[in-house]
Amino acid sequence: MSNRLPDFIDPVRYADTKQALAGAVPFSRMQRLTDIVSNRDGVAEVELLFDVDAQGTRTVHGRVRTEVWLACQRCLQPMSLPVDSVISLGIIATEHDAERLPEAYDPLLVGDQPLPLAELVEDEILLTLPAFPRHEAGVCVAATSVTQAPVAEAEEKPNPFAVLARLKSN
Ligand SMILES: [Zn+2]
Repeated sequence: MSNRLPDFIDPVRYADTKQALAGAVPFSRMQRLTDIVSNRDGVAEVELLFDVDAQGTRTVHGRVRTEVWLACQRCLQPMSLPVDSVISLGIIATEHDAERLPEAYDPLLVGDQPLPLAELVEDEILLTLPAFPRHEAGVCVAATSVTQAPVAEAEEKPNPFAVLARLKSN
């Protein structure tokens, strides 16, 4: 796989000429990401295929794979989070065009200026990150904490004992 990726891309021209890109983008080019992850020396593996679909929409399909380290919001210890994000973008020139974009695509607003590739990749990674990252129960050192764990767990899945309790009371 070639590691020579351009710093800036012209998505419209790339789509019209059906270009494909593959390589690595270092986290050091993603300021917003390095503000929140602890592995600032990380690298994102990127594959992008620019195309025009049957309806004439210019598209970007691809994949972003990496690993980020975030602070667990329950115990504040670092936790690893694999990222494997499938990209499906429709290129638009104005905000209004977003309304006409088929639902299968997320809008990629492209102006007159070339688009920094790292910014596109960074946006994709940031979109996949949970607002409240936590270790899985049993791994988290704070999992036994009686103050937080039961409430958070109850929201995620129905408590089987609650069903039993209901059966008994009937
Ligand atoms: Zn934790």
